[in-house]
Amino acid sequence: MKTFRNFIAGEWVAPSSGEYFENRNPADTTDVIGRFPLSTAADVDRAVASAKRGFREWSRTPAPARGDVLRRVGDLLSQRKDEIADLMTREMGKPVAETKGDVQEGIDTAYYAASEGRRLFGHTVPSELRDKWAMSFRRPIGVAGIITPFNFPLAIPTWKMFPALLCGNACIFKPAEDVPHTGTVFVEILLEAGLPPEVIQLVHGVGEQEGKAIVDHPEIPLISFTGSTETGRIVGETAGRMHKRLSLEMGGKNAQIVMDDANLELALEGVLWGAFGTTGQRCTATSRLILQKGIHDRFLGMLVDKAKSLKLGDGRKEGTDIGPLVSRNALEKVERYIDIGQSEGNDLLCGGRRATGKGLDKGFFFEPTIFARVEAGQRLEQEEIFGPVLSVSDADEAFRVNNDVKYGLSSSIYTTNVQDAFRAMNELENGITYVNAPTIGAEAHLPFGGVKQTGNGHREGGWEVYEFYSETKVGYVDFSGRLQRAQIDNYLGTPD
Ligand code: ADP
Repeated sequence: MKTFRNFIAGEWVAPSSGEYFENRNPADTTDVIGRFPLSTAADVDRAVASAKRGFREWSRTPAPARGDVLRRVGDLLSQRKDEIADLMTREMGKPVAETKGDVQEGIDTAYYAASEGRRLFGHTVPSELRDKWAMSFRRPIGVAGIITPFNFPLAIPTWKMFPALLCGNACIFKPAEDVPHTGTVFVEILLEAGLPPEVIQLVHGVGEQEGKAIVDHPEIPLISFTGSTETGRIVGETAGRMHKRLSLEMGGKNAQIVMDDANLELALEGVLWGAFGTTGQRCTATSRLILQKGIHDRFLGMLVDKAKSLKLGDGRKEGTDIGPLVSRNALEKVERYIDIGQSEGNDLLCGGRRATGKGLDKGFFFEPTIFARVEAGQRLEQEEIFGPVLSVSDADEAFRVNNDVKYGLSSSIYTTNVQDAFRAMNELENGITYVNAPTIGAEAHLPFGGVKQTGNGHREGGWEVYEFYSETKVGYVDFSGRLQRAQIDNYLGTPD
């Protein structure tokens, strides 16, 4: 079995504990990808000491030159797209068409970051005093702790690390324990592209131990976390106590609304992709479907037929629509919610059990599941399941039902009525609203994130993320040759 290492202080090294964890293919658990370091706080300490040295050099490198490195990363990701997609599917399960999209998002993010190296705009504004200039500009912050989940093993680390690096920070990267192989290959590519070795530290391990050590570390002033709302709360408490800058991207309970006037074929394709793509394991997955009464029965019939025809299987095989869940824990969580749905009296229309049969018995496969007559406020309608489970309700007050959850990531409305479309963009309480498109589909050059308990006000992607990874500094240059007191001298002698 292949043994992988951490990348700390410019070298591939074993963990100080000498211990490892296994990574297996969720479509076939007899397929072992390798063993990966179980790191501890001692490894994080070494990584931070090195990253601080890396930061000193990198933060002084001109931003356009930092961007050039990221452009080369984008080139390498393009050249190796198929190979990376294949290894990503092997370790987390989603079909290769989706993992290619994941790599593509990394490529897009790299090229966007590279071009940002020639912007990183500040402002120059008039001073209120004569012969004085006033301007703002961006400064790097320091060592960034990057903690990522399993569902977008490449895209999410790139969303975080490319802007962090472009802004001149060093990174300590902790990939989710389900996807350490993709994390390793990603770091190899960063190094091959010419990133100075001490600017990136890869420390594998489990969240409660090594992830926690990153969050607790006093010399990591900046944390970016994507994961569950429960873990985000723990991370947030520590970061608040230690005055760290923190970006949280957490859960979702995203709804697709289908109005009576919608193009139903289009809405059908949208909900199938939104609910069952990535086996429902996306923070933007469509886990609720809100149907207006006029089309409710007809649309539900169309949907159940199609859901039953989706092909489950190994994501590396041609023709697979849905891969496995990522782990036994994920599968058991979905099973618990099936019990909850049934005990709350919801109508199970299809799925609701592990998928069995040829090619499925060695993996964590679960049938696409649809519950109907789910009332607003019931647990299936409120809680994030992170699996292929869709709750359907009929509602006259679709917007209110959409908004009555604690999360606020994405929403979708299918309608041909322009008033309803714009009203939805205004009134749905989410960071992203899609019109005539599913709840998934963010593009790398727009801000991504949610309101309420999905996030803490920051955004990933687009232009906004550069604010998070840099400190705004202001410079005043007075070339008058005399003391000029702001708010005082410029108002002396003002007529009453
Ligand atoms: P998910 O359910 O999406 O896997 P988690 O919140 O469990 O979400 O995990 C997201 C990331 O956070 C993973 O890399 C995981 O190892 C890490 N993590 C889990 N617990 C902690 C913790 N207490 N402190 C820091 N990181 C953690």
